[in-house]
Amino acid sequence: MKKTFPAIIAAIIITAITSCQSATQPKTQAADTTTANAATVTPAHLEEKVLTAEEQKALTPDSVIQILKDGNKRFMNNNFTSRDNPALVKDAAKGQYPMAVVLSCIDSRVPVEDVFDRGIGDIFVARVAGNFVNEDILGSMEYSCKVSGAKLIVVMGHESCGAIKATIDNVKLGNITAMLTKIKPAVVVSQDFKGDKTSKNHDFVDYVAKNNVKNTIETIKAKSPTLKEMADKGEIKIVGAYYNLNTGEVTFLE
Ligand SMILES: [Zn+2]
Repeated sequence: MKKTFPAIIAAIIITAITSCQSATQPKTQAADTTTANAATVTPAHLEEKVLTAEEQKALTPDSVIQILKDGNKRFMNNNFTSRDNPALVKDAAKGQYPMAVVLSCIDSRVPVEDVFDRGIGDIFVARVAGNFVNEDILGSMEYSCKVSGAKLIVVMGHESCGAIKATIDNVKLGNITAMLTKIKPAVVVSQDFKGDKTSKNHDFVDYVAKNNVKNTIETIKAKSPTLKEMADKGEIKIVGAYYNLNTGEVTFLE
C-alpha cells in the first residue's frame, strides 16, 4: 500500500496537468478571438455606466416605454442584463438622469427594477400599497420629471392586490383605514361590473385594480398642473401598466 500511494498521487498529478492543458488550449483561442473583437464589440448585456444627461435628453416618452417593454421581455425570459454594480454605484454618485418614474404597490412580488430589467440610476420608484397618489407622491413625480428630466410616468397596478381586496372588503384597521379611502373611488366606479362584486372574485379585483390605475392617472392630471402641462406639451407621457403575478408580464394600458 505504501509503495503504490506515491504512484497514485503521481498519476493524479499527471492527469490533472493533462486535463488542465487540454482545457486551457481552447480557452486561450477563445480569449484571442475576444481580444480581436474587443475594440469594436461591447457586449450589450454588460452595463458599467449610468445614464448621462445627454442620453436622457435624447430619449422620448415613447422610446422609454419601448425600453421598459424590452426589459420586461428579458425579465420574463430570465435574460437579465449583466451589471457591474460597484462601477455603477461609483458612476451614479456623480449625478442621476433617470428615464422614468414608476409608481407601484409595495407588494413584495413586484420588484420594480427587476421586472423592467433596469439598474442603478435608471428609474425613480415610488411605492405605496394600492399605488395611489397623494401630495407627497405628486411632489416626488414633479421632482422626477420637472427637475430631474424623466420622460415617463408609469402607474403600475398588479394582479391579486391585497390593498384592492382590503378596500373592497371595507377593512378597518389602524392607519390602513385612512389609507384605503384613497383607493375607495376605484371601487365606487367599478359598480357597473357584471358578476360577483367581492374580493373573492379574481375578475372583479382585477377590474377594480385597473380602474384604480386609471383613477390615479386622472388624479395626477387633476392635482398637478405641472405634470399636466408637461404631458400636454408632449414632454412626458403618463401611462398605466398592469403586472401579471403569474407570468411576470407587464401590460401597458395605453
Ligand atoms: Zn398591491
